[in-house]
Amino acid sequence: MPLQSSRLSGFHQLDVTTRQQRVFDACDISEEVSDLFVQHSAPMLGCADVMIENAIGSLNVPLGLATNLIVDDIDVLVPMATEESSVVAALCNGARQCRDSGGVKTTQVGQCMIGQIQLLDVSDPQACTTTLYRHKEEIRALCNSCDPVLCSVGGGFQDMQVRTLPVTPAMIVLHLHIDVRDAMGANAVNTMAETLAPYIEQWTGARVGLKILSNLADQRTVRATGVWPLNSIGGEAVRDAMLVAGQFATIDPYRAATHNKGVMNGISAVILATGNDTRAVEAGAHAYAARGGQYTALTQWEQTKEGDLAGSIELPMPVGIIGGATQVHPTAQLCLQLMNIDSAARLASVIAAVGLVQNFSAMKALATEGIQRGHMSLHARNIALAAGAKDNEADQVVAELISRQSINTKTAAEVLERIRGTSAL
Ligand code: NAD
Repeated sequence: MPLQSSRLSGFHQLDVTTRQQRVFDACDISEEVSDLFVQHSAPMLGCADVMIENAIGSLNVPLGLATNLIVDDIDVLVPMATEESSVVAALCNGARQCRDSGGVKTTQVGQCMIGQIQLLDVSDPQACTTTLYRHKEEIRALCNSCDPVLCSVGGGFQDMQVRTLPVTPAMIVLHLHIDVRDAMGANAVNTMAETLAPYIEQWTGARVGLKILSNLADQRTVRATGVWPLNSIGGEAVRDAMLVAGQFATIDPYRAATHNKGVMNGISAVILATGNDTRAVEAGAHAYAARGGQYTALTQWEQTKEGDLAGSIELPMPVGIIGGATQVHPTAQLCLQLMNIDSAARLASVIAAVGLVQNFSAMKALATEGIQRGHMSLHARNIALAAGAKDNEADQVVAELISRQSINTKTAAEVLERIRGTSAL
């Protein structure tokens, strides 16, 4: 029976198990499907109910561990939460191939998040700008008064910038640069921007519009570089094919979007595993990739004077190890410990390194054998399992799906039926 109405009055007041039952009834969910869902959700139910509204359960995403990575001369294990096959294997392979050259090196540019305060009805932009700068020390004091804890660990207001946007009537934007130390910082910055708003109106006579963090965190970027020796990647032909692949992504936004999606395969998986905000990092990364006016690749690839392949990536990395879900979610806590992370800066370095290495592996596969060979055997396994293959049947089903070049559930079901028919004889 189709859903009668999406108006589930009082839904948010129910406890989680009653909510589940109500929604199973409303959507006519079969007992088989609902029992499995309840069973999978059970361990996280309490946590989910605390974290979001109207929780009805949790979605289990596979968590893998990538090996082989060295970042800034320290070995690190990388937990990755992803539903996409081949992401973890790609990181392991790419990281192994740059171990001989010392792994990935990183540098940080700043720890500041940006808070924006939008000023409207500005009659004299120049005078407004001057007024704002004249109040810089009061702005500093007001911001810092919002978060004494942050200030006690060395964070707080660092600087400000006033921008005039090219519209009529004039629009001015005040940027607050806030050092957020080991936090992602959104709540801290938003509180400061909201606290400042009435003072800004009083000083300037303008009307404050929005007051919110910017996800284009270009005052908090990481740069990661790595060298892949010629002998570890398979010689000059592979290197040259990868250089041309990199050039393609640099000059063509259609290719750049897919190139950067590959980068984010690795980055988002670690962001999710550590309880950080995937959307914040993704929005920042893509906005940064378009900062020159045309969307382009987040990575650059070149040949070193020794003839090896060198790669680099630079992007905003607003992540934390304090606050948000990082401390509430038990898996996030485990992941941070597995990585031996003791600061947001170290986490940012590792994640940028992951993006670079992930991109190396994707480009190498694309520029040589194509992505499908590795990808499809993993995909074929998922299809085999979806068709009902048991562990002892999966290998045979996968092999046949690949050899018949027909990787779909219909063929998997046929193969399974035949195997089972044969073994029953
Ligand atoms: P938070 O407010 O939960 O924790 C940060 C606070 O912890 C600081 O303000 C400080 O008072 C305290 N703290 C203690 N020790 C610290 C240390 N060593 N370093 C830094 N702070 C320390 O978290 P947050 O990082 O301000 O906010 C992150 C959350 O905000 C995420 O869940 C994110 O999804 C969400 N969010 C994001 C956006 C956005 O991206 N546009 C907007 C709103 C909210």
